[in-house]
Amino acid sequence: MPSATKNVAVFGSTGSIGRNALEVIAASQGRLSVVALSAHCRLSELLEQAQLLKPRWVIATDAERALRFDWEDLPAETELLFGPDALAEVATAVEVDVVLAAIVGSAGLRSTWAALDAKKTVALANKETLVMAGGLVKHLAATQGASLLPVDSEHSAIFQVLGNRDSSEVRRVVLTASGGPFRNLSADELKQVTVHEALAHPTWNMGPKITIDSATMMNKALEIIESRWLFNLTTEQIGVVIHPQSIVHSFVEFVDGSVIAQMGPPDMKLPIQYALEYPHRQPGIAARLDWTRRWQLEFEPADEARFPALTLGFECARAGGTSGAVLNAANEAAVAAFLAGDLHFTEIVPACRSVLESHDFKAEPTLEELETVDLWARAEVTRWVCA
Ligand code: NAD
Ligand code: MG
Repeated sequence: MPSATKNVAVFGSTGSIGRNALEVIAASQGRLSVVALSAHCRLSELLEQAQLLKPRWVIATDAERALRFDWEDLPAETELLFGPDALAEVATAVEVDVVLAAIVGSAGLRSTWAALDAKKTVALANKETLVMAGGLVKHLAATQGASLLPVDSEHSAIFQVLGNRDSSEVRRVVLTASGGPFRNLSADELKQVTVHEALAHPTWNMGPKITIDSATMMNKALEIIESRWLFNLTTEQIGVVIHPQSIVHSFVEFVDGSVIAQMGPPDMKLPIQYALEYPHRQPGIAARLDWTRRWQLEFEPADEARFPALTLGFECARAGGTSGAVLNAANEAAVAAFLAGDLHFTEIVPACRSVLESHDFKAEPTLEELETVDLWARAEVTRWVCA
Protein backbone atom coordinates (compact mmCIF):
# COMPACT_ATOMS: atom_id res chain seq x y z
CA MET A 1 0.00 0.00 0.00
CA PRO A 2 1.18 3.56 -0.70
CA SER A 3 2.46 5.54 2.27
CA ALA A 4 3.40 9.14 1.39
CA THR A 5 1.26 11.61 -0.55
CA LYS A 6 2.26 11.94 -4.20
CA ASN A 7 2.59 15.56 -5.35
CA VAL A 8 1.21 15.99 -8.85
CA ALA A 9 1.95 18.87 -11.24
CA VAL A 10 -1.09 19.09 -13.51
CA PHE A 11 0.03 20.70 -16.78
CA GLY A 12 -3.01 21.69 -18.85
CA SER A 13 -5.28 21.76 -15.78
CA THR A 14 -8.15 23.64 -17.47
CA GLY A 15 -8.50 21.07 -20.27
CA SER A 16 -10.69 18.01 -20.42
CA ILE A 17 -7.96 15.69 -19.04
CA GLY A 18 -6.79 18.31 -16.54
CA ARG A 19 -10.26 18.83 -15.05
CA ASN A 20 -10.87 15.08 -14.82
CA ALA A 21 -7.51 14.71 -13.10
CA LEU A 22 -8.39 17.33 -10.48
CA GLU A 23 -11.55 15.34 -9.66
CA VAL A 24 -9.54 12.12 -9.37
CA ILE A 25 -7.01 13.83 -7.09
CA ALA A 26 -9.77 15.39 -4.94
CA ALA A 27 -11.30 11.92 -4.43
CA SER A 28 -7.99 10.22 -3.57
CA GLN A 29 -8.35 10.67 0.22
CA GLY A 30 -5.03 12.46 0.48
CA ARG A 31 -2.97 9.94 -1.48
CA LEU A 32 -2.58 12.52 -4.26
CA SER A 33 -2.10 16.27 -3.92
CA VAL A 34 -1.86 19.10 -6.48
CA VAL A 35 1.49 20.91 -6.32
CA ALA A 36 1.22 22.88 -9.60
CA LEU A 37 -1.37 23.92 -12.17
CA SER A 38 -0.87 25.31 -15.67
CA ALA A 39 -3.06 26.72 -18.43
CA HIS A 40 -2.64 28.73 -21.61
CA CYS A 41 -6.00 30.47 -21.74
CA ARG A 42 -9.22 30.42 -19.64
CA LEU A 43 -7.26 32.11 -16.86
CA SER A 44 -10.36 32.76 -14.70
CA GLU A 45 -10.82 29.00 -14.49
CA LEU A 46 -7.13 28.58 -13.62
CA LEU A 47 -7.50 31.17 -10.87
CA GLU A 48 -10.59 29.38 -9.47
CA GLN A 49 -8.68 26.09 -9.42
CA ALA A 50 -5.81 27.79 -7.60
CA GLN A 51 -8.15 29.33 -5.01
CA LEU A 52 -9.61 25.91 -4.30
CA LEU A 53 -6.40 23.86 -4.27
CA LYS A 54 -3.79 26.39 -3.12
CA PRO A 55 -0.93 24.79 -5.08
CA ARG A 56 2.72 25.78 -4.65
CA TRP A 57 2.82 27.07 -8.27
CA VAL A 58 0.46 28.36 -10.93
CA ILE A 59 1.84 28.70 -14.45
CA ALA A 60 0.18 30.83 -17.12
CA THR A 61 2.00 29.71 -20.27
CA ASP A 62 0.74 32.51 -22.54
CA ALA A 63 2.73 35.32 -20.89
CA GLU A 64 1.08 38.11 -22.90
CA ARG A 65 -2.42 37.05 -21.95
CA ALA A 66 -1.31 36.49 -18.34
CA LEU A 67 0.08 40.01 -18.01
CA ARG A 68 -3.35 41.46 -18.88
CA PHE A 69 -5.12 39.29 -16.26
CA ASP A 70 -5.92 40.34 -12.69
CA TRP A 71 -4.19 37.87 -10.31
CA GLU A 72 -5.00 39.77 -7.12
CA ASP A 73 -7.11 36.93 -5.68
CA LEU A 74 -4.41 34.29 -6.06
CA PRO A 75 -3.77 32.55 -2.69
CA ALA A 76 -0.83 34.06 -0.80
CA GLU A 77 1.01 30.70 -0.66
CA THR A 78 0.87 30.25 -4.46
CA GLU A 79 3.68 31.52 -6.65
CA LEU A 80 2.69 32.75 -10.11
CA LEU A 81 4.97 32.00 -13.08
CA PHE A 82 4.59 33.14 -16.70
CA GLY A 83 5.64 31.63 -20.02
CA PRO A 84 6.38 28.13 -21.38
CA ASP A 85 9.84 27.85 -19.78
CA ALA A 86 8.23 27.87 -16.33
CA LEU A 87 6.77 24.42 -17.08
CA ALA A 88 10.23 22.88 -17.36
CA GLU A 89 11.37 24.76 -14.24
CA VAL A 90 8.48 23.38 -12.14
CA ALA A 91 8.64 19.90 -13.72
CA THR A 92 12.14 19.48 -12.30
CA ALA A 93 11.44 20.87 -8.79
CA VAL A 94 12.09 18.54 -5.85
CA GLU A 95 8.53 19.05 -4.57
CA VAL A 96 7.11 17.38 -7.71
CA ASP A 97 6.70 13.59 -7.76
CA VAL A 98 4.52 13.12 -10.84
CA VAL A 99 3.90 15.35 -13.85
CA LEU A 100 0.54 14.86 -15.53
CA ALA A 101 1.26 15.92 -19.11
CA ALA A 102 -2.18 17.09 -20.25
CA ILE A 103 -1.24 19.99 -22.51
CA VAL A 104 -2.56 19.57 -26.05
CA GLY A 105 -0.23 19.34 -29.05
CA SER A 106 3.51 19.71 -29.54
CA ALA A 107 3.49 22.48 -26.89
CA GLY A 108 3.59 19.60 -24.38
CA LEU A 109 6.93 18.18 -25.52
CA ARG A 110 9.50 20.35 -23.70
CA SER A 111 7.99 20.04 -20.21
CA THR A 112 7.64 16.26 -20.57
CA TRP A 113 11.25 16.12 -21.70
CA ALA A 114 12.39 18.20 -18.71
CA ALA A 115 10.42 16.03 -16.27
CA LEU A 116 11.91 12.78 -17.63
CA ASP A 117 15.36 14.30 -17.67
CA ALA A 118 14.87 15.11 -13.96
CA LYS A 119 13.92 11.43 -13.34
CA LYS A 120 10.28 12.27 -12.56
CA THR A 121 7.35 9.99 -13.23
CA VAL A 122 5.30 11.30 -16.15
CA ALA A 123 1.65 10.35 -16.59
CA LEU A 124 1.37 11.04 -20.30
CA ALA A 125 -1.90 12.15 -21.87
CA ASN A 126 -0.06 14.30 -24.43
CA LYS A 127 0.36 11.64 -27.13
CA GLU A 128 1.84 14.25 -29.51
CA THR A 129 5.10 14.06 -27.51
CA LEU A 130 5.59 10.42 -28.53
CA VAL A 131 4.33 10.98 -32.08
CA MET A 132 6.91 13.74 -32.54
CA ALA A 133 9.87 12.36 -30.66
CA GLY A 134 9.02 8.83 -29.43
CA GLY A 135 12.49 7.37 -30.01
CA LEU A 136 14.32 10.17 -28.21
CA VAL A 137 11.79 10.39 -25.37
CA LYS A 138 11.89 6.65 -24.68
CA HIS A 139 15.67 6.68 -24.76
CA LEU A 140 15.76 9.61 -22.32
CA ALA A 141 13.35 7.87 -19.93
CA ALA A 142 15.42 4.67 -20.06
CA THR A 143 18.79 6.37 -19.53
CA GLN A 144 17.45 8.53 -16.69
CA GLY A 145 15.46 5.70 -15.08
CA ALA A 146 12.28 7.82 -15.29
CA SER A 147 8.82 6.26 -15.62
CA LEU A 148 6.53 7.09 -18.51
CA LEU A 149 2.98 5.90 -17.78
CA PRO A 150 0.27 6.11 -20.44
CA VAL A 151 -2.99 7.99 -19.82
CA ASP A 152 -4.46 7.58 -23.31
CA SER A 153 -7.23 5.02 -22.72
CA GLU A 154 -6.05 2.49 -25.35
CA HIS A 155 -2.48 2.61 -24.14
CA SER A 156 -3.53 2.45 -20.51
CA ALA A 157 -5.55 -0.66 -21.45
CA ILE A 158 -2.52 -2.28 -23.08
CA PHE A 159 -0.32 -1.28 -20.14
CA GLN A 160 -2.87 -2.70 -17.65
CA VAL A 161 -2.80 -6.00 -19.57
CA LEU A 162 0.95 -6.13 -20.16
CA GLY A 163 2.44 -4.69 -16.99
CA ASN A 164 6.14 -5.18 -17.33
CA ARG A 165 5.80 -8.43 -19.30
CA ASP A 166 8.36 -9.12 -22.00
CA SER A 167 7.08 -7.82 -25.37
CA SER A 168 8.38 -11.03 -27.04
CA GLU A 169 5.26 -12.73 -25.61
CA VAL A 170 3.01 -10.33 -27.52
CA ARG A 171 1.82 -11.25 -31.00
CA ARG A 172 -0.05 -8.01 -31.53
CA VAL A 173 -2.03 -5.25 -29.90
CA VAL A 174 -5.35 -4.18 -31.36
CA LEU A 175 -6.39 -0.59 -30.70
CA THR A 176 -10.11 0.02 -30.59
CA ALA A 177 -11.57 3.11 -32.29
CA SER A 178 -15.12 4.40 -31.94
CA GLY A 179 -15.06 5.38 -35.62
CA GLY A 180 -16.12 8.91 -34.64
CA PRO A 181 -19.38 10.62 -35.59
CA PHE A 182 -19.04 10.08 -39.36
CA ARG A 183 -18.38 6.35 -39.49
CA ASN A 184 -21.41 5.74 -41.73
CA LEU A 185 -21.35 8.83 -43.96
CA SER A 186 -20.78 8.59 -47.72
CA ALA A 187 -17.82 10.37 -49.34
CA ASP A 188 -20.17 13.12 -50.58
CA GLU A 189 -21.75 13.59 -47.15
CA LEU A 190 -18.28 13.81 -45.57
CA LYS A 191 -17.45 16.81 -47.78
CA GLN A 192 -20.32 18.77 -46.21
CA VAL A 193 -19.26 18.16 -42.57
CA THR A 194 -19.36 21.36 -40.47
CA VAL A 195 -17.16 22.31 -37.50
CA HIS A 196 -20.16 21.97 -35.19
CA GLU A 197 -20.87 18.39 -36.39
CA ALA A 198 -17.21 17.37 -36.15
CA LEU A 199 -17.04 18.63 -32.56
CA ALA A 200 -19.86 16.30 -31.41
CA HIS A 201 -18.23 12.97 -30.53
CA PRO A 202 -20.66 10.07 -29.99
CA THR A 203 -18.99 8.46 -26.94
CA TRP A 204 -16.14 10.60 -25.54
CA ASN A 205 -16.23 14.15 -24.17
CA MET A 206 -12.81 15.67 -25.00
CA GLY A 207 -11.01 18.88 -26.00
CA PRO A 208 -11.59 20.27 -29.52
CA LYS A 209 -8.33 19.14 -31.18
CA ILE A 210 -8.59 15.46 -30.20
CA THR A 211 -12.33 15.50 -31.05
CA ILE A 212 -11.56 16.55 -34.63
CA ASP A 213 -8.71 14.00 -34.71
CA SER A 214 -11.23 11.32 -33.71
CA ALA A 215 -13.59 12.35 -36.50
CA THR A 216 -10.82 12.11 -39.15
CA MET A 217 -9.34 9.00 -37.45
CA MET A 218 -6.06 10.89 -37.24
CA ASN A 219 -6.31 10.26 -33.49
CA LYS A 220 -5.96 6.53 -34.17
CA ALA A 221 -3.06 7.24 -36.55
CA LEU A 222 -1.30 9.15 -33.74
CA GLU A 223 -2.10 6.29 -31.36
CA ILE A 224 -0.54 3.73 -33.72
CA ILE A 225 2.70 5.73 -33.54
CA GLU A 226 2.29 6.18 -29.77
CA SER A 227 1.92 2.37 -29.34
CA ARG A 228 4.94 1.71 -31.50
CA TRP A 229 7.16 3.72 -29.15
CA LEU A 230 5.50 3.02 -25.80
CA PHE A 231 5.51 -0.76 -26.15
CA ASN A 232 8.42 -1.18 -28.55
CA LEU A 233 6.30 -2.85 -31.24
CA THR A 234 6.73 -3.26 -34.98
CA THR A 235 3.91 -1.91 -37.17
CA GLU A 236 3.02 -5.52 -38.03
CA GLN A 237 2.20 -5.99 -34.33
CA ILE A 238 -0.34 -3.13 -34.27
CA GLY A 239 -3.92 -3.45 -35.48
CA VAL A 240 -7.03 -1.25 -35.33
CA VAL A 241 -10.64 -2.35 -34.99
CA ILE A 242 -13.80 -0.21 -35.03
CA HIS A 243 -15.77 -0.58 -31.80
CA PRO A 244 -18.58 2.01 -31.66
CA GLN A 245 -19.45 1.52 -27.96
CA SER A 246 -15.94 2.45 -26.65
CA ILE A 247 -16.18 -0.11 -23.82
CA VAL A 248 -13.24 -2.32 -24.77
CA HIS A 249 -10.25 0.02 -24.68
CA SER A 250 -7.85 -2.33 -26.50
CA PHE A 251 -6.84 -5.96 -26.90
CA VAL A 252 -3.52 -7.71 -26.45
CA GLU A 253 -3.08 -10.97 -28.36
CA PHE A 254 -0.30 -13.15 -26.97
CA VAL A 255 1.87 -15.59 -28.95
CA ASP A 256 -0.13 -18.54 -27.59
CA GLY A 257 -3.36 -17.12 -29.10
CA SER A 258 -4.87 -15.83 -25.84
CA VAL A 259 -6.48 -12.38 -26.16
CA ILE A 260 -6.89 -10.15 -23.08
CA ALA A 261 -8.87 -6.90 -23.14
CA GLN A 262 -9.40 -4.09 -20.63
CA MET A 263 -12.93 -2.71 -20.35
CA GLY A 264 -14.89 0.10 -18.74
CA PRO A 265 -17.31 2.86 -19.72
CA PRO A 266 -15.76 5.70 -21.75
CA ASP A 267 -14.48 7.81 -18.85
CA MET A 268 -10.91 9.15 -18.72
CA LYS A 269 -10.94 9.21 -14.92
CA LEU A 270 -9.97 5.55 -14.83
CA PRO A 271 -6.81 5.71 -16.99
CA ILE A 272 -5.83 8.99 -15.26
CA GLN A 273 -6.24 7.36 -11.84
CA TYR A 274 -4.38 4.21 -12.92
CA ALA A 275 -1.37 6.29 -14.00
CA LEU A 276 -1.40 8.58 -10.93
CA GLU A 277 -1.87 5.77 -8.39
CA TYR A 278 0.40 3.29 -10.21
CA PRO A 279 1.34 0.60 -9.20
CA HIS A 280 -1.68 0.45 -6.87
CA ARG A 281 -5.37 0.09 -7.64
CA GLN A 282 -7.63 2.18 -5.42
CA PRO A 283 -11.38 2.73 -5.17
CA GLY A 284 -12.23 5.63 -7.46
CA ILE A 285 -14.90 7.78 -9.03
CA ALA A 286 -14.70 6.56 -12.63
CA ALA A 287 -17.98 5.41 -14.20
CA ARG A 288 -18.64 1.66 -13.84
CA LEU A 289 -20.18 -0.94 -16.09
CA ASP A 290 -23.80 -1.67 -15.23
CA TRP A 291 -24.08 -5.46 -15.15
CA THR A 292 -27.88 -5.36 -14.66
CA ARG A 293 -28.34 -3.95 -18.19
CA ARG A 294 -28.46 -5.83 -21.46
CA TRP A 295 -25.64 -4.60 -23.70
CA GLN A 296 -23.89 -5.50 -26.88
CA LEU A 297 -20.39 -4.94 -28.08
CA GLU A 298 -19.67 -4.65 -31.81
CA PHE A 299 -16.39 -4.86 -33.68
CA GLU A 300 -15.71 -4.35 -37.35
CA PRO A 301 -12.52 -4.08 -39.40
CA ALA A 302 -11.09 -0.59 -39.83
CA ASP A 303 -11.02 0.03 -43.58
CA GLU A 304 -7.92 2.05 -44.56
CA ALA A 305 -9.55 3.05 -47.86
CA ARG A 306 -12.33 4.71 -45.86
CA PHE A 307 -10.00 6.05 -43.17
CA PRO A 308 -6.81 7.11 -45.05
CA ALA A 309 -5.38 8.68 -41.88
CA LEU A 310 -4.70 5.14 -40.62
CA THR A 311 -2.37 4.48 -43.57
CA LEU A 312 -0.44 7.64 -42.66
CA GLY A 313 -0.17 6.41 -39.06
CA PHE A 314 1.24 3.05 -40.12
CA GLU A 315 3.65 4.66 -42.60
CA CYS A 316 5.02 7.09 -40.02
CA ALA A 317 5.27 4.40 -37.33
CA ARG A 318 7.30 2.30 -39.79
CA ALA A 319 9.50 5.14 -41.04
CA GLY A 320 10.27 6.78 -37.66
CA GLY A 321 12.81 9.62 -37.95
CA THR A 322 11.27 13.00 -38.72
CA SER A 323 8.01 11.62 -40.16
CA GLY A 324 6.00 11.58 -36.89
CA ALA A 325 6.90 15.20 -36.13
CA VAL A 326 5.88 16.26 -39.65
CA LEU A 327 2.58 14.36 -39.50
CA ASN A 328 1.80 15.74 -36.06
CA ALA A 329 2.56 19.37 -36.90
CA ALA A 330 0.79 19.21 -40.27
CA ASN A 331 -2.26 17.76 -38.55
CA GLU A 332 -2.24 20.39 -35.77
CA ALA A 333 -2.09 23.15 -38.39
CA ALA A 334 -4.73 21.52 -40.61
CA VAL A 335 -7.12 21.03 -37.67
CA ALA A 336 -6.64 24.70 -36.66
CA ALA A 337 -7.38 25.72 -40.27
CA PHE A 338 -10.53 23.56 -40.31
CA LEU A 339 -11.72 25.04 -36.99
CA ALA A 340 -11.09 28.52 -38.41
CA GLY A 341 -13.21 27.69 -41.48
CA ASP A 342 -10.24 27.79 -43.89
CA LEU A 343 -10.15 24.09 -44.81
CA HIS A 344 -12.83 21.47 -45.55
CA PHE A 345 -13.08 18.49 -43.25
CA THR A 346 -12.07 16.12 -46.09
CA GLU A 347 -8.94 18.19 -46.83
CA ILE A 348 -7.31 17.63 -43.42
CA VAL A 349 -5.81 14.21 -44.16
CA PRO A 350 -4.76 15.02 -47.79
CA ALA A 351 -3.02 18.17 -46.50
CA CYS A 352 -1.04 16.01 -44.06
CA ARG A 353 -0.14 13.49 -46.78
CA SER A 354 0.99 16.24 -49.13
CA VAL A 355 3.26 17.82 -46.47
CA LEU A 356 4.67 14.43 -45.47
CA GLU A 357 5.50 13.56 -49.07
CA SER A 358 7.36 16.80 -49.67
CA HIS A 359 9.45 16.65 -46.50
CA ASP A 360 13.16 16.05 -46.35
CA PHE A 361 13.27 12.83 -44.29
CA LYS A 362 15.97 12.40 -41.67
CA ALA A 363 16.33 9.02 -39.92
CA GLU A 364 18.00 10.13 -36.68
CA PRO A 365 17.01 13.71 -35.90
CA THR A 366 17.86 15.60 -32.72
CA LEU A 367 15.16 17.22 -30.60
CA GLU A 368 16.03 20.62 -32.09
CA GLU A 369 15.76 19.22 -35.64
CA LEU A 370 12.33 17.80 -34.79
CA GLU A 371 11.23 21.22 -33.56
CA THR A 372 12.51 22.76 -36.80
CA VAL A 373 10.55 20.32 -39.01
CA ASP A 374 7.51 20.95 -36.81
CA LEU A 375 7.66 24.67 -37.74
CA TRP A 376 8.34 23.84 -41.40
CA ALA A 377 5.32 21.49 -41.60
CA ARG A 378 3.02 24.14 -40.10
CA ALA A 379 4.20 26.69 -42.68
CA GLU A 380 3.64 24.13 -45.47
CA VAL A 381 0.03 23.63 -44.36
CA THR A 382 -0.50 27.40 -44.41
CA ARG A 383 0.86 27.41 -47.98
CA TRP A 384 -1.44 24.49 -48.86
CA VAL A 385 -4.47 26.30 -47.39
CA CYS A 386 -3.69 29.52 -49.26
CA ALA A 387 -2.91 27.79 -52.59
P1 NAD B 1 -7.99 20.50 -24.03
O1 NAD B 1 -7.97 21.33 -25.26
O2 NAD B 1 -9.30 20.26 -23.36
O3 NAD B 1 -6.99 21.12 -22.93
C1 NAD B 1 -5.68 21.47 -23.26
C2 NAD B 1 -4.95 22.10 -22.11
O4 NAD B 1 -3.66 22.52 -22.60
C3 NAD B 1 -5.62 23.36 -21.54
O5 NAD B 1 -5.38 23.44 -20.15
C4 NAD B 1 -4.89 24.50 -22.27
O6 NAD B 1 -4.87 25.74 -21.53
C5 NAD B 1 -3.49 23.93 -22.39
N1 NAD B 1 -2.79 24.47 -23.57
C6 NAD B 1 -3.29 24.68 -24.81
N2 NAD B 1 -2.34 25.20 -25.63
C7 NAD B 1 -1.22 25.31 -24.89
C8 NAD B 1 0.09 25.81 -25.16
N3 NAD B 1 0.44 26.29 -26.37
N4 NAD B 1 1.00 25.79 -24.17
C9 NAD B 1 0.67 25.32 -22.92
N5 NAD B 1 -0.55 24.85 -22.61
C10 NAD B 1 -1.50 24.84 -23.58
O7 NAD B 1 -7.29 19.10 -24.42
P2 NAD B 1 -7.58 17.65 -23.82
O8 NAD B 1 -8.70 17.02 -24.57
O9 NAD B 1 -7.61 17.70 -22.33
O10 NAD B 1 -6.28 16.87 -24.30
C11 NAD B 1 -5.02 17.07 -23.68
C12 NAD B 1 -4.06 16.00 -24.20
O11 NAD B 1 -4.53 14.72 -23.78
C13 NAD B 1 -3.97 15.94 -25.73
O12 NAD B 1 -2.66 15.62 -26.09
C14 NAD B 1 -4.90 14.78 -26.10
O13 NAD B 1 -4.52 14.12 -27.30
C15 NAD B 1 -4.70 13.86 -24.90
N6 NAD B 1 -5.84 12.97 -24.64
C16 NAD B 1 -7.04 13.52 -24.33
C17 NAD B 1 -8.13 12.69 -24.09
C18 NAD B 1 -9.46 13.26 -23.68
O14 NAD B 1 -10.37 12.49 -23.35
N7 NAD B 1 -9.65 14.56 -23.66
C19 NAD B 1 -7.98 11.29 -24.19
C20 NAD B 1 -6.74 10.78 -24.52
C21 NAD B 1 -5.65 11.62 -24.73
MG1 MG C 1 -7.17 7.30 -27.06
